[in-house]
Amino acid sequence: MKNFVTKKDFIKDIAIQRIDILFKMAEEVYRKDQRLANRYVELAYLIALRARVRIPKKYKYRICKKCRTYLVPGKTLSVRLRSRREPHIIMKCTTCGYIRRIPYKKVLKTLNKKTISSGES
Ligand SMILES: [Zn+2]
Repeated sequence: MKNFVTKKDFIKDIAIQRIDILFKMAEEVYRKDQRLANRYVELAYLIALRARVRIPKKYKYRICKKCRTYLVPGKTLSVRLRSRREPHIIMKCTTCGYIRRIPYKKVLKTLNKKTISSGES
């Protein structure tokens, strides 16, 4: 039995590829043109929405859920650590003020994956 890829899977695959490209473009263009970077991540978000795919984990924290700004630590994103009870990270979008709390363990996991997958440069 051959494992045929359905049309739906095909669309999802393309969507993920495009999201990846858009985030990379946003990263490149950000220093020169913040507006364009925001446009790219907004497009990535819309593609994800339309194709019903999730934004890849490595990019999940790079886009504001509320205003869809491209989040750059130290620029559009303020990151704070809290160690009370369960250690967690507070990520605040400096554009709209949206606050996201992420358990420290979860972030570490994501970061580790990122360093492993982006070996070449
Ligand atoms: Zn925001």
